[in-house]
Amino acid sequence: MANSFTRMISGRNTAVILASVGAGSLTSGYLLCDSTADAAERRKLYPPSADFPDLRKHNNCMAAALTPTIYGHLRDKTTSNEWTVDQCIQTGVDNPGHPFIKTVGMVAGDEESYELFAELFDPVIKDRHNGYDPRTMKHPTDLDASKITSGMFDERYVLSSRVRTGRSIRGLSLPPACSRSERREVERVCVTALSGLKGDLAGRYYSLGDMSDREQQHLIDEHLLFDKPVSPLLTASGMARDWPDARGIWHNNEKNFLLWINEEDHTRIISMEKGGNMKRVFERFCRGLKQVEHLIQERGWEFMWNDRLGYILTCPSNLGTGLRAGVHVRLPMLSRDPRFKKILENLRLQKRGTGGVDTAATGDTVDISNHDRLGKSEVELVQLVVDGVNYLIECEKRLERGKTSRSPPPSLSSGSEHHLCRESWKRAGTPTIVN
Ligand code: ADP
Ligand code: MG
Repeated sequence: MANSFTRMISGRNTAVILASVGAGSLTSGYLLCDSTADAAERRKLYPPSADFPDLRKHNNCMAAALTPTIYGHLRDKTTSNEWTVDQCIQTGVDNPGHPFIKTVGMVAGDEESYELFAELFDPVIKDRHNGYDPRTMKHPTDLDASKITSGMFDERYVLSSRVRTGRSIRGLSLPPACSRSERREVERVCVTALSGLKGDLAGRYYSLGDMSDREQQHLIDEHLLFDKPVSPLLTASGMARDWPDARGIWHNNEKNFLLWINEEDHTRIISMEKGGNMKRVFERFCRGLKQVEHLIQERGWEFMWNDRLGYILTCPSNLGTGLRAGVHVRLPMLSRDPRFKKILENLRLQKRGTGGVDTAATGDTVDISNHDRLGKSEVELVQLVVDGVNYLIECEKRLERGKTSRSPPPSLSSGSEHHLCRESWKRAGTPTIVN
């Protein structure tokens, strides 16, 4: 550290430093001693323009929103946990793009980050969440699973159904910023609370540190556990520090209600099962989530939440509901159609590989889930996935029929598609699918 400071003052910016700190400070030796010149002080030796990141090759929401003016306003601010905007954007600076999804390019270190750095977070949120304006709009929550209709998929196509969200414990720094003690506190609070789950939700906690590599890999292969922290999105944001300290998975005996502890968020709460019964998966999700919240509140803790941003999570892409409802669905014909991407966009759906966000969607089976998380309630998002996936299956069936019977090209703008899908299709002016 001392060396880097020496390098800094002997470099070509010496004149700027001398001008900005004054000869008195330098001759006193105060700033020359790196142990006393803290990061904030050293940063101020240079104007924000000298620190502005080179984002010319970047394709993420942060890079699109960050201007020198905004950076100038925010660079020297710190939250009460000493978290800076530079730390928020580091992951987006280091990862210009992602091969399979458009990333947000920034994370929060604590709940306050979203307020203090709102000048940058707000446009990023607006971009990522389909125009949702966090300054003027309110986010709805609805966990009444009985409202879902047509929530049973054709199981010749849908292999598994899953709904997940994340929740953060108020008062503790988020994973990019938390100390080891805070991380262990998250684990302690959650594991203690979860012991109160009863009936079909009762289960136990498996700490990553106590697991063998084989056990861990087995859970990953079963799609139950998060991957090892190899993703640069995770490592560049600081979320993988101290791995596997205080990380783990809690699951019930049936392995259909799970909690991940201290991965990308303090907690990820997941309901999943094989087959196509999305309504049942969502019912268990809502019931389990309410019980977990109650158990945590009973112990004097609460989740980070406000009415503009909904539930506060590490990545702005997960604000609001934090909900990703998805299926592994077999679509061998449609997924190879050049218009598949556009169809998904129109339905506000997202495609991933079956191994998770960092895997390519190759082969016949893909992970399809809602793209939005904020501005729509949990019920609305799950219904959107239900309608969208039913529609995709309908398309697949039409393509199958077209191929085998050599009948005229199927038209997706007529027939028995769900109203919502047909409307979104028409609005976007997407052409009908032809073979
Ligand atoms: P998340 O958004 O919940 O973090 P990821 O894309 O990181 O999800 O994937 C995490 C794990 O969950 C991966 O092993 C992935 O295969 C599994 N997974 C995601 N959706 C489903 C699904 N519908 N059925 C089975 N496994 C799934
Ligand atoms: Mg993930």
